[in-house]
Amino acid sequence: MSVKNVQSENGSGQFGAKTTGKADKNGYWKAKSEMEKKGKKFFSQTIFYDWCKACGICIAFCPQNVFTRSETGKPLVENSDECIGCRFCELHCPDFAITISSRYLDRRKDDEE
Ligand code: SF4
Ligand code: SF4
Repeated sequence: MSVKNVQSENGSGQFGAKTTGKADKNGYWKAKSEMEKKGKKFFSQTIFYDWCKACGICIAFCPQNVFTRSETGKPLVENSDECIGCRFCELHCPDFAITISSRYLDRRKDDEE
């Protein structure tokens, strides 16, 4: 897995969900509604690799094991949906290289419009 300048390994984005008014063949909206009923929230982890010095703090202390370590020692987002938005990584990164933000449930590539 290659290291990108700005994290978006799972193709997700803050503004990924939109209403199309068309059939929901793969159940995206149903799944989103169920998640909302359960109070489940989703977060994006944006990593600015130019600022990261690969200290590993975010990888070691994330309570949800959201990150794995790349070949260069920098974090890769592996389990984005598990993030609980505690912002430990954001607050403790010595280089201000991580930003956590709320997002919608991902739309997968094979979801139809
Ligand atoms: S805590 Fe910050 S500098 Fe350290 S590995 Fe994570 S992103 Fe990089
Ligand atoms: S906000 Fe908390 S759960 Fe999410 S990636 Fe950072 S340390 Fe892990």
